Amino acid sequence: MLRVAVVGSGPSGCYTAQSLVQLGRDVRVDVLDRLPCPYGLVRYGVAPDHEKIKSLQNTLRTVLEHERVRFLGGVPVGPGGVPSARLRELYHAVVYCVGAATDRRLGIPGEELPGSWSATEFVSWYSAHPDAVDDGFLRGARSAVVIGVGNVAVDVARMLVRGTAELSGTDMPQAALDALAAGRVADVHMVGRRGPSQARFTTKELRELGALPDTAVVVDPAELALDAGYRDPSGLPGAQRRNVEVLRDWAGRPAPDAARRIRPRFFLRPVELTADGDGRVGAVRFERTAPDGRGGVTGTGRYEEIEAQLVLRSVGYRGVPLEGLPFDAASGTVPHRAGRVLRGGVVAPGEYVAGWIKRGPTGVIGTNRPCAKETVTSLLADAAALTGRALPADPLPLLRAEGLEPVEWSGWRAIERAEADLGTSLGRHVVKLPDWESLLAAARTATT
Ligand SMILES: Cc1cc2nc3c(=O)[nH]c(=O)nc-3n(C[C@H](O)[C@H](O)[C@H](O)COP(=O)(O)OP(=O)(O)OC[C@H]3O[C@@H](n4cnc5c(N)ncnc54)[C@H](O)[C@@H]3O)c2cc1C
Repeated sequence: MLRVAVVGSGPSGCYTAQSLVQLGRDVRVDVLDRLPCPYGLVRYGVAPDHEKIKSLQNTLRTVLEHERVRFLGGVPVGPGGVPSARLRELYHAVVYCVGAATDRRLGIPGEELPGSWSATEFVSWYSAHPDAVDDGFLRGARSAVVIGVGNVAVDVARMLVRGTAELSGTDMPQAALDALAAGRVADVHMVGRRGPSQARFTTKELRELGALPDTAVVVDPAELALDAGYRDPSGLPGAQRRNVEVLRDWAGRPAPDAARRIRPRFFLRPVELTADGDGRVGAVRFERTAPDGRGGVTGTGRYEEIEAQLVLRSVGYRGVPLEGLPFDAASGTVPHRAGRVLRGGVVAPGEYVAGWIKRGPTGVIGTNRPCAKETVTSLLADAAALTGRALPADPLPLLRAEGLEPVEWSGWRAIERAEADLGTSLGRHVVKLPDWESLLAAARTATT
């Protein structure tokens, strides 16, 4: 019997566990997560109003309920939890599926001003991540700038203009729902430093902005036309061409009267966040850019300011080094060959990676499936060499003896019941528990 620890229960961890039990008959898998709740960014990243994508949790659930798979939540690997070296003693192989937990920085003055947050902080708050801090994100803001033109930027822009009627059916925590419902943001500027044909959002997400109640999408045809791909989209790849077509359609008709406006902006590079009289962010100063003819942009020396009492920075994610694992700081990933971890260019036996920590923060949820399968194929090819080592009995009592209190599947089910009960008490459907205390208290009811 091959015993494998998968660290991380997001899509890549779940797909890894699935491939392991599908492709290997004599394999048992423990899926460890630092959180008491499974599913990674499907629970704590995918926007709450995207119920169809959220429902992928049901597919991942079947993996974690497989008879040879065991979920152990509340087990951080690294400082304050199980050292990775200890995991190697307890399992024949360890697959790290820890995602890319931090944001890229802009590296410009004023980035730390009150009122400026990473999109991750905002997403974590409305997704009820137990580490999230309620910093009063909206706090009277009338104008918001979202820096970035990817799908996460579109998500946060959309959440800023959605009202109670549309959000109360989601599982968003009550405090975030109340704050967003009371929000006064009338203008959301979503700003990219390159042109519309180079934006990374997908057409479906972009188009959805045009269908939001009482919200107009306002684009400036002259700004869009700075992009040769916009003026003549015929040579663009399909995805970019469709994005451009959506923007051309908006540019071609007058924006309707509406209480709120989303303003996609292009060819603007942020150079500074400036403070208002109270020392909070008051505006973002941008340099106008222009295409450099080689697919990039160059500064023009012309500047403009956009008023903003709220700034959300959404310029990408980065992996963080995990204690005991090699790390390539340039790419923010763990060096690997077909999923096998490389130490100094040499394969480290029994250590593997999958998902965002393996290939960087790219692709959709489904991209993690073939990524995990490649890793599992490598692992199973190594199985004969790995199982030569005798292991201690079940690792669970050993982890407990070392002071950890893993949340088993029954604990997670108890959290789900508590969230359903909370929803009922608030006249809503399921409502997420937003803090460690209530999650762990709910998990404990499974054994009492
Ligand atoms: C805001 C946002 C919205 C998104 N929306 C969509 C969408 O709508 N559609 C789509 O297709 N894709 C979406 N994505 C992309 C998708 O979420 C990722 O492709 C996917 O989650 C990556 O999977 P992963 O398993 O590698 O990482 P993650 O999902 O991040 O999972 C990593 C897991 O590892 C755990 N972990 C981390 N460190 C440790 C540790 N030291 N010890 C134990 N556990 C640890 C974490 O708690 C987490 O559960 C979105 C991404 C973001 C950031």
